[in-house]
Amino acid sequence: MEQQTFYDSDADLKHIQSKSIGIIGYGNQGRAQALNLRDSGIVDISIGGIKDSSLERAVSDGFNTGTIEEVAANADILFLLIPDEVLPAIYQKSIAPHLKSQVILNFASGYNITFQKIIPSPQADVIMVAPRMIGEGVRDLYSKGAGYPCFVAVEQDCSGKGLTTALAIAKGIGATKIGATQVTFKQETIMDLFAEQATWPLIEKVLVSAFEFQVAQGLPAAAVLSELYLSKEPAYMFEKMADIGFFKQMDLHSRTSQYGQLSRFEQVDATFIQEFMSKAFKEINDGRFAEEWEQEQATGMNNFKKLKSQALAHEMNQVEDQVKGHR
Ligand code: NDP
Repeated sequence: MEQQTFYDSDADLKHIQSKSIGIIGYGNQGRAQALNLRDSGIVDISIGGIKDSSLERAVSDGFNTGTIEEVAANADILFLLIPDEVLPAIYQKSIAPHLKSQVILNFASGYNITFQKIIPSPQADVIMVAPRMIGEGVRDLYSKGAGYPCFVAVEQDCSGKGLTTALAIAKGIGATKIGATQVTFKQETIMDLFAEQATWPLIEKVLVSAFEFQVAQGLPAAAVLSELYLSKEPAYMFEKMADIGFFKQMDLHSRTSQYGQLSRFEQVDATFIQEFMSKAFKEINDGRFAEEWEQEQATGMNNFKKLKSQALAHEMNQVEDQVKGHR
């Protein structure tokens, strides 16, 4: 599929203006997207959820609210904005039996469709508007008149209006300002999981190993952590990579630093990295990770809890607390 990016001028809010919009979930994405849509002039918005603090917040923000069943039954376009791992059970029990036959289902992540944890009725349109931004950023950047990147996708297009609807939603939530790129549900899922399961674990292992190695050489732990990330210099570098360019931002570093980085970058043997990525990619692509994660949830998340407590017991945590105590 040829990749295409769409901007404000490619999208028209009229495709959603007369529709009844239901939003299931009022968390990170649900709240931000609902507020942005309302500020974009979309009037018929209802929030569905269980009776909890999220729903109370939707009431105090001035939205109509209802049970998940009620909102699902009334919606022409239904946003599914509850966590991916809890959505399939809720979809099956409280959403699917109540939907209008020609509903448009709007996901913010490809996961449940890609791995067939949710199989919508063949009469429904199935689209995705997936901000590449945390909910707080979705709201903040919209309020400031700025944009953020986003993926749009169409999996089922019974009405023939899947893409125009997805683009109208993307515009309404402020995501076509700097470009909404069309991908498939599967591509979004793979890119998202690959970042989580390959790119970031490798980066995290490098940082933890760099800490352990330098402390073992007798270097002061707090200073090592400061050099690694507590100074926020890497955060600043990442911002410059996005603004100026991955390699181009190196001009902001000393020449000693640039020479050191570039000459040693060339010396890194990427064989292991490629093998690790290849394994992660295969396990994502053939659904093995999705099965593993489902199994983990079904058996009480014991491994997940163990991994988290191991991570929080690492010496780096105490060093961070000491450093932050002095800030
Ligand atoms: P949140 O964790 O913020 O939760 C969303 C809502 O779901 C909350 O209102 C929450 O209620 C409700 N909820 C949680 N568990 C249940 C349950 N068992 N029954 C009923 N309601 C429940 O989700 P996000 O907004 O982070 O994610 C929503 C979607 O957006 C997902 O598909 C995610 O992949 C996608 N996405 C998320 C991004 C992000 O930055 N977070 C970025 C891009 C896409 P309560 O608060 O009461 O628990």
